Amino acid sequence: MAETTQYDLVVIGGGPAGYAAAIRAGQLGKKVACIEAERAGGTCLNWGCIPTKALLKSAELFQKMQKAEAYGLRAEGLSFDFAKVVERSRGVSGQMAKGIEFLFKKNKVEYFVGRGQVSAPGMVTITEGEHKGQFLRASHILLATGCKMRRIPGLEYDGERVMTSREALAAPRLPKSVVIVGAGAIGVEFAYLYRSFGAQVTLVEMLPQVLPVEDEEVAKLLHRSFEKLGIAVHTNTRCENFRVGKNAVTLDLVSGDKKTALEAEVLLSAIGVEPNLDGALAPSVKPELERGYLKVGDDYQTSVKGVYAAGDIIGPPWLAHVATFEALSAVNGIFGHGVPRRVKNFPGCTYCQPQVASIGLTERAAKEKGLNYKVGKFPFTASGKAVASAESEGFVKVVTDAKTGEIYGAHIIGAEATELIAEYGLAIEMEATVEEVHRTIHAHPTLSEALMEAAAATLGEAIHI
Ligand SMILES: Cc1cc2nc3c(=O)[nH]c(=O)nc-3n(C[C@H](O)[C@H](O)[C@H](O)COP(=O)(O)OP(=O)(O)OC[C@H]3O[C@@H](n4cnc5c(N)ncnc54)[C@H](O)[C@@H]3O)c2cc1C
Repeated sequence: MAETTQYDLVVIGGGPAGYAAAIRAGQLGKKVACIEAERAGGTCLNWGCIPTKALLKSAELFQKMQKAEAYGLRAEGLSFDFAKVVERSRGVSGQMAKGIEFLFKKNKVEYFVGRGQVSAPGMVTITEGEHKGQFLRASHILLATGCKMRRIPGLEYDGERVMTSREALAAPRLPKSVVIVGAGAIGVEFAYLYRSFGAQVTLVEMLPQVLPVEDEEVAKLLHRSFEKLGIAVHTNTRCENFRVGKNAVTLDLVSGDKKTALEAEVLLSAIGVEPNLDGALAPSVKPELERGYLKVGDDYQTSVKGVYAAGDIIGPPWLAHVATFEALSAVNGIFGHGVPRRVKNFPGCTYCQPQVASIGLTERAAKEKGLNYKVGKFPFTASGKAVASAESEGFVKVVTDAKTGEIYGAHIIGAEATELIAEYGLAIEMEATVEEVHRTIHAHPTLSEALMEAAAATLGEAIHI
């Protein structure tokens, strides 16, 4: 039998949940190991948040440069090299993943590339890779194995004609035409990316709006903006009858009684994710699951004593910052640094242009809950900074308690929305009222003034509308 070492914490999975957990335990002076099957950084750094944002930056810049004239500039003979755009994105991922490996060293985290399995409570086995057969004894185990892409049943994914985001992120050739199934954040971001570089894009969503979790007005504006960009957007539409040929995919778009045939060079499936526990648990280790996700208590412990879980593997929302929050909370709790907290409020962001960001309740959710709410709205067309930057599409909308001014939710569509949302996140966390946001002096001219003006609009006191 291979040698065993005793750890305070063994983490399985090196994504934003796993790597943050391991680093935090290292900071606390604990003996910690992290086992990662592929590369430190997980989906987020290697196949998710970071490489998509690198691609989107190129897309956004290319779009902007085409509008050079609006700024009094001339940019003639503009062109792009899509393979280089993708190469840059892969490079950014590699750089960030290396950074995590450096942080592991700095915080004395023992990093194993391989597949980890909870073989019994208090025991982890490495079942694949260079360290295969090694046993790690652990006072605590944290499962952070994340999710994998959900696939359309019956459709063969060959990674070229039919892809998930993972293959798309490494594909060096821009497809001439693409049909994207699913208009959640991932589908929407790829639609913007491909269209920005000139591909013919059809974006299909089964639900009544693009970005189904976002505020209805925000989704409507994004829908219109995407159509203006030349994306064919179909909501309330199902994709059926897929035929994958040598050079194209054909399918039917079904909306009510209407059926339309569509052909595209590539199909990108972006219909969500499902839990990934493949090989992570020995058959004798059976933590309680809920729809395939690990069920955890308020301290992030599963039903198996000493085995904890955080991140995508404990269910939605599937977001990197939520994964990290959960993992840090779990580890701090395990080692007696405060009471673990479950996630209540979290921002959700989509990095197309215009960007979309939100936190808390949508107006519809407030209505459905029967809350006595007020809405304050401020358009970027009335923001000096937005107009000066020629980025005046969009608005800020804030939903508050009609009596107390408590902030229920904030919704932003427009330039830098994903950066701006942090202010409302802090306001909600600190239980600030909408009056307090209104009274806070915001620098002029900045886009952030629109957050203050939306707050003021709730009180009927906005100056610029
Ligand atoms: C295209 C795309 C874009 C996204 N963009 C954003 C975004 O902009 N913002 C955002 O917040 N979120 C985004 N996400 C979601 C985000 O990536 C996830 O929410 C986040 O990565 C979850 O972190 P995690 O640590 O729980 O899991 P993961 O990051 O998935 O990490 C799990 C890790 O565990 C490893 N693993 C699995 N099983 C084992 C095993 N048995 N042994 C060892 N290792 C194992 C996997 O290899 C993986 O590296 C995006 C996702 C995708 C796919």
